[in-house]
Parts: sequence; structure tokens; C-alpha cells
Amino acid sequence: MALYVHKYGGTSVGSVERIEHVADKVKSARDAGDDIVVVVSAMSGETNRLVDLAKGITDQPNPREMDVLLSTGEQVTIALLTMALQKRGCAARSYTGDQVRILTDSAHTKARIRHIDVDAMRNDLKAGRVLVVAGFQGVDELGNTTTLGRGGSDTTAVALAAALKADECRIYTDVDGVYTTDPRVVDRARRLDRITFEEMLEMASLGSKVLQIRSVEFAGKYNVPLRVLSSFEDGPGTLISLEEETKMEQPVISGIAFNRDEAKLTVLGVPDIPGVASRILGPVSAANIEVDMIVQNVAADNTTDFTFTVHRNDFDRVKQILTEVANDLGAREVRGDSAIGKVSIVGVGMRSHAGVASKMFDTLAAENINIQMISTSEIKVSVVIAEKYLELAVRALHSAFELDEPAESR
Ligand code: ASP
Ligand code: MG
Repeated sequence: MALYVHKYGGTSVGSVERIEHVADKVKSARDAGDDIVVVVSAMSGETNRLVDLAKGITDQPNPREMDVLLSTGEQVTIALLTMALQKRGCAARSYTGDQVRILTDSAHTKARIRHIDVDAMRNDLKAGRVLVVAGFQGVDELGNTTTLGRGGSDTTAVALAAALKADECRIYTDVDGVYTTDPRVVDRARRLDRITFEEMLEMASLGSKVLQIRSVEFAGKYNVPLRVLSSFEDGPGTLISLEEETKMEQPVISGIAFNRDEAKLTVLGVPDIPGVASRILGPVSAANIEVDMIVQNVAADNTTDFTFTVHRNDFDRVKQILTEVANDLGAREVRGDSAIGKVSIVGVGMRSHAGVASKMFDTLAAENINIQMISTSEIKVSVVIAEKYLELAVRALHSAFELDEPAESR
């Protein structure tokens, strides 16, 4: 007998009919003889609706009260799902975050989990019940309701799986797994059977939005096997686990991630002296703006061009900041370009294979795509290119690295 944590997101519990469907799935998992803990999100759109209600009253709602408000969404779904299970003759009990005692710090609207009491849950499981736990919410030491940040139900599910030492944490969602790239861009994208925590983290932070990033970090840290699967069709989904378990027969590259979220800024003709990077980026970070890729090159005339990327939403502010900095530094000019895209190839196989980056560059060259910036990590190579070539680049790389779904299996 195994213990599984199931998590159903907002779309999967978006209506009474869908909640009934989830109840069928949970019941058949239970009937197969396994212990089941279910974590649910609020019904789709509900958390946004609550946020809008608060905004109708004030621009700056008190964070403590915001958590009292936002946590109600999940409370509705745990009660409805538990009723649906009981109607099917399946013993079940609902738990709010407080009732489990998912203890968090007091950082309202973005709390972090400190400890989970498993005793009550264990007793209920022993008594043969399915547990239905509200995602996204916890309680601080003083008994205040807290929430874990948007999308936080994934983190609740992984944290419960870690605390209960579950055999697997299954995230049921509206896609049937993690894909080699976005199927809307590459119609021959493939569902991956397996991917490592590290790769999933890279894919997620590069814009593949299947799972909340924090939940993947958490799963990796506590080695909780995570499986992403569809709540609407049967299938094996994608297993996210440690490298040792996925290494066999894996291709060198697991996936291609891309995004259009960034903009590029260049300060031209900066004196090439110590402290320049810090004088350029210091004010940017002081404004709480995150910098992603950075490239600095040295010119022959003792000046340098300094280029970096930020989120597009921050572009105007950074340009303003840089104009002042450039003046102080005696730099020649500030240039910006927001029509860029970033493409990354991701794979743990890179550690043991040479020539991966050059294959990427060859592929882009063959398509006549100019590379503007490059950055690498142990398991990733990213390039910045003109936005208009982004999809072409993704498709070319997807087939160059042999990720396309074979024609006969389509
Ligand atoms: N209901 C919360 C949200 O919409 C948490 C979640 O769905 O994971 O962000
Ligand atoms: Mg969600």
C-alpha cells in the first residue's frame, strides 16, 4: 500500500461537475488500496475575484486581512470535494491549513512553511479516510491565517508529501505533462516521460509555467517524486525526480524554453576602470529590479560596452536610471531594445557531452539568426536574439536536438 498526495488545480475543480469528476478519480485511487491525501486550489477565477473585491475597497489592503479573504477560496473546494467523496461512500474529511497545522512564518501573502504536524493526518489515514486539504494556506504561531503566494497550492502538496514521506506527489492539471517545448509553437513537441528537478527548475524559471517554481525547489530539496498529469484524460504524465533515476537513455537536451519577457539595455563607451559594473547595476538593484543576462566587452580605446537584460515591465525605469548613471560615468550613450527573445536549451546531458553549445550556434547560424547575447550554466545555454526570429529558432533547435515527435507516432 502506497501513500499518494494528489493536487488538483483551479481548472480541475472549476465547477461542481468537475469536482464530482475529481471525486471519481480520488475514489478509484482509494479503491485501488492506496492512502490518498488530496490538496485542492480554489475554483478557477475565484482567487482573482477575491483580489478584485479587495481592490474595490482599497489600493493597499492590509496583508493580514488579505490572507483572511484569499484563504476562503480553498475552503469552499475542500468542503465540496469532501461532500462529493462522502456521497460516493468514500470516508473523507476536510482540513484547513490551520486544522492540519501547516505552520508558516508571518509574512502575509507570501508566507513560508516552517513545519507541518502530521499526527492528526496519520490518525485519519489509519482510520481509512481520504484527507482533503486546502492548498495555499497556513497559520502562523499566533494563529493568524497566512497564504503562500499565488500558485501556492503546488507548494502545499509537495510540502505535505515531504512531511508524510509520500511515495509520490501527483499534480493533476489541464495539461498531460511537461513538454519538450511549448506545443503551440512546435506542433511536434513531445511529452517527456521523465525530467530531473534541476531541469524542471530551469524550464520553469524560463517560462514553462506548469508548476510553481517554489514547489519544484521544495520537491528537489526533500527528494519528493513529482508527477504532472492531466485531470481530464488518463496517461502516465511526466515524472520529475533525481538525476540518477532519469539518466538512462536520456537525450542530451531535455527541452527548449523561451520567453519574450525581457528587454536589453546597453551603456556604450563606459570607461574601462574598476567599479563600473557596480556603479551601473547598483542603482538598478537598489530600485529592486532583477537583472538576468550580463555581457561586458572591452574595446581597444579603454572604454567598454555594458549590456544586460531586465524584465520588459522594468525597461522604462531602467532606461531612466541608466541615463543618469551614464552621465555620472561619462559614458557615451544608452541604448535599449525590447524586441528581443531568449531561447534556452536545457539538459543534464550537457554535463557529459561536449559540443552542445556549438551545435546550438551552428543551428542558429544555418537559419541566419544573429545571436546578441549568450549565457551558460552547467545544464543550460541561453541566447538572446531578435524577437521576430524566436519561434523559428525554437523550431530549428527542437529538430536539431532530435526532440521532434517521430512522424509514425503522431
Ligand atoms: N488559489 C491560489 C491562486 O490562485 C493558489 C493556487 O491556485 O495554487 O493563486
Ligand atoms: Mg494554480
